[in-house]
Amino acid sequence: MAQLPPDVEEDECLPEYRYLFCPDLLHDLLKCHFFSCFRDKVAFITGGGSGIGFRIAEIFMRHGCHTVIASRSLLRVSMAAKKLIAATGRQCLPLSMDVRAPPAIMAAVDQALKEFGKIDILINGAAGNFLCPASALSFNAFRTVVDIDTIGTFNVSRVLYEKFFRDHGGVIVNITATLNLRGQVLQVHAGSAKAAVDAMTRHLAVEWGPQNIRINSLAPGPISGTEGLRRLGGSPARVSTKALVSPLQRLGNKTEIAHSVLYLASPLASFVTGTMLVVDGGAWLTSPNDTKQLADFESSSAKL
Ligand code: NAP
Repeated sequence: MAQLPPDVEEDECLPEYRYLFCPDLLHDLLKCHFFSCFRDKVAFITGGGSGIGFRIAEIFMRHGCHTVIASRSLLRVSMAAKKLIAATGRQCLPLSMDVRAPPAIMAAVDQALKEFGKIDILINGAAGNFLCPASALSFNAFRTVVDIDTIGTFNVSRVLYEKFFRDHGGVIVNITATLNLRGQVLQVHAGSAKAAVDAMTRHLAVEWGPQNIRINSLAPGPISGTEGLRRLGGSPARVSTKALVSPLQRLGNKTEIAHSVLYLASPLASFVTGTMLVVDGGAWLTSPNDTKQLADFESSSAKL
């Protein structure tokens, strides 16, 4: 049986790392006019200060990449950048930016380009989510999730296209979810928002392919040590019961997601575009829809 890559629950770097891919996978070999030189790839990661995004930043940096990690809280991304630099020895630029605000995105991308001179990879990981039955969801709450997940993904992709990818090519990986594959209780907002991102992946892959831009979605299943699981998974007993009925009978970890994102962003996937890679241990195929969670939610709200 394949050995599971280790992980830690918190937003901390891994104490040890065993390479499965070539360590210089994200080094960039460029032919200069007079000599050959190595230049390193640069990844711009929204939501890179925590959870899955943090681990993606770490694994990318361990493979030779420099990163820009961007989210609303400067404190969060600054603390994360310190840890990432200390663990990997690569550069990491923390930036405060709301994916809903195009002027802030433009300023952040300008700053990243000033610092590194280029951006090769964009990971759209920023998202917001919570559990709520459709009948109790306010109009504003639905719109906020679509604003962050869907419109935010478009905003950042569009700015990067304009400022760098159109003329130099690039790779985009959108972090989505499996919620919409079958429809899931309490998740109409996030499922709809992520489904739109998966559609966007295909549209942009078709439109931007000729500019040598590859775009794919990666849909994680339930992942341990994340805010997503803490907020949405329910009680630990409920989480482990659900995990046990999935084909691999366990939760995934952040390193496993980061490895699959690394594959999609790397030259190993040079002919892969417009697709969605589900990385969930097969969970969406077998997990029962948790209608009891809906009933519990509705009865507890009724008591308020
Ligand atoms: P997380 O740690 O809460 O990551 C979300 C990140 O997005 C945070 O760093 C947050 O930072 C940032 N963010 C939120 N709103 C933003 C905004 N308006 N502008 C810029 N940044 C914003 O959660 P996670 O569980 O690791 O999830 C990461 C990604 O994986 C998400 O796309 C999620 O939908 C997806 N996913 C997760 C799971 C799971 O089991 N955890 C399963 C399926 C899919 P600030 O608060 O500083 O802005």
